[in-house]
Amino acid sequence: MIIRARTVVPMEGAPIENGAVVVDGDTIATVGRFEEIRRNYGGEIADLGEKILLPGLINAHCHLDYTVLRGKIAPHDSFADWIREINVQKSKLTEQDYIASIRAGFSEARRFGTTTIANLTAFPKLVGAITEPIRTWWFGELIDVRNPAEADGIVHEAVESLKTARRWGLAPHAPFTASARLYARCEEIAAQQNVLLTTHLAESRDEMQMFRDAAGPVFDFLKEIGRSMEDCGRESPLSLFLRTRILTDRWIIAHLNELAAADFDLLAKAPKFHIAHCPRSHAFFGHAPFALERLRALGFNICLGTDSLASNSDLSLFAEMRELLRQETRLVPQDVVKMVTVNGAAALDQAGRLGVIRAGACADLIALPDASGGDVFEEIVAFEGTVPWAMVNGKRL
Ligand SMILES: [Zn+2]
Repeated sequence: MIIRARTVVPMEGAPIENGAVVVDGDTIATVGRFEEIRRNYGGEIADLGEKILLPGLINAHCHLDYTVLRGKIAPHDSFADWIREINVQKSKLTEQDYIASIRAGFSEARRFGTTTIANLTAFPKLVGAITEPIRTWWFGELIDVRNPAEADGIVHEAVESLKTARRWGLAPHAPFTASARLYARCEEIAAQQNVLLTTHLAESRDEMQMFRDAAGPVFDFLKEIGRSMEDCGRESPLSLFLRTRILTDRWIIAHLNELAAADFDLLAKAPKFHIAHCPRSHAFFGHAPFALERLRALGFNICLGTDSLASNSDLSLFAEMRELLRQETRLVPQDVVKMVTVNGAAALDQAGRLGVIRAGACADLIALPDASGGDVFEEIVAFEGTVPWAMVNGKRL
């Protein structure tokens, strides 16, 4: 099948005017100028007309569990208050609510042109009940703050459920809710099973205060519920993570907003893990400015996520790109589009397979109206509404 569009954006090399992509089954056979492709390939031609054809977008961090919590939690002064509030909201939800929430999240993500999603779920046992409409990495989000003695059992139980999914990984929630043992067990399993790891790190001021100063609202809250606070009062969350982890380059680290001056020296020497930045969730919480330029200059791969709708208004990566450009005036649209395509693919260990249009890549494509005739990356970032055409694995959505 030949798919033609006014502009094809392969994300490697320059955009192609009057371009076409040949899709063979679930794979891209080639990409180039339409006249040449038509000369060399037979088969059905789907002419999308005045459209921009680009790789489907990749959401590197989200929690579809909480799609149903859209608009339920107002921004709070402290992260600890938000945690309390989401716990109240979660206590009202049943298993059926979560299944409905995840399904609603998938359809919303897909409407916004997301074809790959790194989805953290606190309910790995629900994975089998859901048919994913887009390419999904299911990360089991694990917490043992109330029962650290059960860390091994928690991981084991999650893995048994996650193994039924085509693509999965493990997500110890954060250093304040997951024990050192739980992190270590996840790393062991990731090495044995060759799966990915993700976690939340250095997200909030409260987390920094807890680990560095043994103080603050999250410290008080967790002490109150019985967490051992022996790991607090010495170092930053990042320092703790780097000192205690072994497989550092396998991790997708969400957030990394709160960094101490000395953390940058540690990062300069650290293996280059992947960083998922969530611009609108970041704005919702009013975190410290994200050190995008410094982290990029140090060689970290930055990709974008929406986070959950408990701290965001929708699952549009276009809106994330616009928010990032609003915050980072020195960035150009092309770099931001990379963050939701090639960079996301690299984070998921799919460089060359996802996030690009090239021979051998997965046929995950979207098309947007090509109206202005101006800079194509500016047009992509400015797109609002429902993506009119999408394909995952060679199949129209
Ligand atoms: Zn998150």
